[in-house]
Order: sequence, then structure tokens, then C-alpha cells
Amino acid sequence: MRPKTRLIHGGIFGDEHTGAVSTPIYQVSTYKQEGVGNFKYEYSRTGNPTRHALEELIADIEGGHAGFAFGSGMAAISSVMMMFSAGDHVVLTDDVYGGTYRVMTKVLNRFGLEHTFVDTGNLDEVKAAVRDNTKAIFVETPTNPLLKVTDIEEVAQFAKSKNLLTIVDNTFMTPYLQSPIKLGADIVLHSATKYIGGHSDVVAGLVVVNSEQLASDLHFIQNSVGAVPGPQDCWLLIRGLKTLGIRMEETNQNAKRVAEFLDGNDNVKNVFYPGLESHRGHDIMKKQATGFGGMISFDVGTVDAAHKLLDKVRYFTLAESLGAVESLISVPSLMTHASIPPERRAELGISEGLVRVSVGIEDVEDLIEDLENALAGE
Ligand SMILES: *Cc1c(COP(=O)(O)O)cnc(C)c1O
Repeated sequence: MRPKTRLIHGGIFGDEHTGAVSTPIYQVSTYKQEGVGNFKYEYSRTGNPTRHALEELIADIEGGHAGFAFGSGMAAISSVMMMFSAGDHVVLTDDVYGGTYRVMTKVLNRFGLEHTFVDTGNLDEVKAAVRDNTKAIFVETPTNPLLKVTDIEEVAQFAKSKNLLTIVDNTFMTPYLQSPIKLGADIVLHSATKYIGGHSDVVAGLVVVNSEQLASDLHFIQNSVGAVPGPQDCWLLIRGLKTLGIRMEETNQNAKRVAEFLDGNDNVKNVFYPGLESHRGHDIMKKQATGFGGMISFDVGTVDAAHKLLDKVRYFTLAESLGAVESLISVPSLMTHASIPPERRAELGISEGLVRVSVGIEDVEDLIEDLENALAGE
């Protein structure tokens, strides 16, 4: 089965009881047992048919052993981290998603889970960070907002040699453009709120693991902690996945055109987009992904210029989040990365005039025209 077909026919297609082509929303908490302990489903925290269909589908699409759905991307990440114990240590990409940074440094640290943040794009830094109690390397690639790239295969090979798990946050690339498990990762996870849902109408998370042991460990956490999504949200994700292929094809094409336009515009100082040959991670992205995605950051020089741009754009909606059909725009230094001290932001290269866009699937000529006019102050 080829990728676009798998998005539609993978996992469990339709409903075996009624022939319904769309998986029904099983809006139910508990299930009649034929006799004590004789049941297919017991209780919806433990398992629900709509969630099960989504979990089978994402496992199939990512090429893994089993899939798990959660109430948000952060619930997915936190639940994966709960497979570890006090005294364990995890090495993470230094510019991971802010919520991941927060849960590691303000929540899970209180339970004794230790962490070190390094540039995972530099294998020497990863090697130097590993200790006797290290259990996993957590990679996000490409990162937000500068689209820094990590070579997943290289990290996974090293991790295997040290008996460590490789965990990849695949939110920006989606399973359509990047398959971390095929590159050697053990666990891949998503904020399904973004491209997988794809329509800015659901908050959810997904995880795929690559072994029976990890599946049983994560199901134990999922059922114990209970950070599960409801059946309606699961249904929205199944529906979103059906069009992920065509949405990502369109997203790739639109983003490439927008990035090239920005790269040639006199009001823009610097463009960060892994699809541009000038981007540091371009060659690795070409090797490990089938597209460059829809995220672009660019520097307009000053925070005033950024504000002016925000005031003028018509089709780029000022909002957090990303990965939806509609284009979104944000200023990391004032929004997603505002809680990071200015000196640290400067170190990371997140300047005040940095603008981030999530390119949607509107007509690209409208998007370019919109940016062109707004950058010219019109
Ligand atoms: C949004 C996001 C998350 C968190 O997901 P939520 O669904 O908002 O909880 C994690 N990782 C990345 C890369 C994200 O963009």
C-alpha cells in the first residue's frame, strides 16, 4: 500500500458491525459483559472502539508496533516520560517545544526524572551528555522556530549502541513526510492538534511504539494515568488523516513558493526554511524526509517591523499553533518564546524581529501577494 492509500485504507477501515464506511463515534463509557471478564471492551479509559481505530491507523501509518492516543500532545509526551523512573535521565534537543521544556524542568524534575538539553544536531554533544543513568534521547526535528535539523538515523544508531531509546517528536513533519521508526527510532509522537487534525478544531496527541514491551508499558501508563481523548476527538483525527497526504503535498508546494519569495524580498533579512539550499539542515532533511513541511521563520529586523507586518496581513491569522488549512502567523519573541529570558533567546538566535508562519493551503498567489503588500507597509 502506498502512503496516500494507507492514510485512507490503513488500520481498521469502516465499521465491521454496520458496514459504515466512516468509523462510528462510539460515545460510550462502559460495555456489557457476557459474563464476568468476558468482553471485547471493558471501560473507555482502558479502550474504546473509535480510539482503537485511530490507534491502529496511526501505528500502521508510522510503520510501528502499536499506537496510543492522548488528550493532547503534552499528555502524550508526559505519558511517554512516565515510563521512566526517579533517577533516570533523558537527553533532549535544546530548543524543544516550550511545553516539553516546561514539563521536564518544572514538573517531571520534581519526581526525580533528570534531563540535559543539547544540540542533538551535533552528535558529539549528544555523546557527551549521556550518563550511566541515561535511558533515552528525545529528538525534535525540525525545531521551532528556527527549523534546526537532527539526523535521526545517526542519533538512533548511537542510542542503540548504548541501549538507549530514541524518541522523536514528529509533529512538524507528520508521518506523511518523515518516518522516524524506519530511521531507527523506538517511539514517535505527535501533537495531533497540528497537521494530523489539520483544521484547528481538536487538541490531541498520538504515540507509536516499536516493540511489544514498549506497547505494554505505554498501555499501562495510558490506562493508569488516563490522559485519553474522547471518541469524538478520535473521529476528527481519523478524518483528518484521510486528507493528510493531499494537504501536505499542497503545504510543501505553497511553503516552498512563500520561502523563495521571502528570500528574495528586500524587507526580509534572513529566512529559515529547510527547503532552501542555504539552510544548514537542508541535506539531512532531503535524506530523511520526503518534503520540507509548511513552517517558515524570517527576520524583519525589529519588533516594530514585525508589529507592522501583523497589522497588515489579511490571510495570515495571528495565532499560536500551526499545521492547519489556514495560514497562521506569530512572533516567537512576544508569544511562544516570551517566557525565555532575552539573553537566552539571543543565544538561540530568536531575534525580536523574527516572524514565524505556518503556511496553509490557500491559493499561494494570494499568500505571496498578502506578504508582499504587508512587508511594503500597504
Ligand atoms: C504543539 C506541540 C506540542 C504540544 O502539543 P499540544 O497538542 O498542544 O499539547 C508538542 N510538540 C510540538 C512540536 C508541538 O508543535
